[in-house]
Amino acid sequence: MVVTHEHPDHCADVSALGRARAYGLPDEPRIPLHCTPGTVRRLEAMEPRPHPTTIFDVSDLGPPREVGPFRMTTFLLPHHVPNYGIRLSAPGLTVAYTGDSGPSPILAELARDADLLIADATLQGPSPDETPRLVSTAGEAGYWAERGGARRLLLTHFWPGSDREISVTEAREEFRGEVLAAEEGAHLRLAG
Ligand SMILES: [Zn+2]
Repeated sequence: MVVTHEHPDHCADVSALGRARAYGLPDEPRIPLHCTPGTVRRLEAMEPRPHPTTIFDVSDLGPPREVGPFRMTTFLLPHHVPNYGIRLSAPGLTVAYTGDSGPSPILAELARDADLLIADATLQGPSPDETPRLVSTAGEAGYWAERGGARRLLLTHFWPGSDREISVTEAREEFRGEVLAAEEGAHLRLAG
């Protein structure tokens, strides 16, 4: 399991999973969890007993590593708290995910020739005139996907109530590949 940063919309469910695991399957091995130190502190604050590190085999998200069949590399991206974009590569397949991120040239490196880029598209409309920028518009997600040469773009992290079709339309103005909007429960075939 990989958690890009400590905000509750990205890690609150991990606490619930930990409870279910600790009391429902107490003899199972710890679940590998790659995350930031702030994420562990949040999990600990939500439920200190049993401590999250007794349920999860925690490792810091920064350094590159092998994860199952994948090589995982990380990219520190602009957000309110430390947030790592992650890139998972196996022979013939690369998937990249921004977590939450403002626009940044680093996103093009994260997305470089990826088969699928999953990208923060919190906002709609023109880019806000403010600095620092800590989340992206759908158009910016499309722009950096195009710059990185990604093949497909999956928009996610929509503002509550946003019409996702508008986000898709705006991303398509910047990105020539296929654009999809994340939906709860959706499954996506990555290869073969
Ligand atoms: Zn966030």
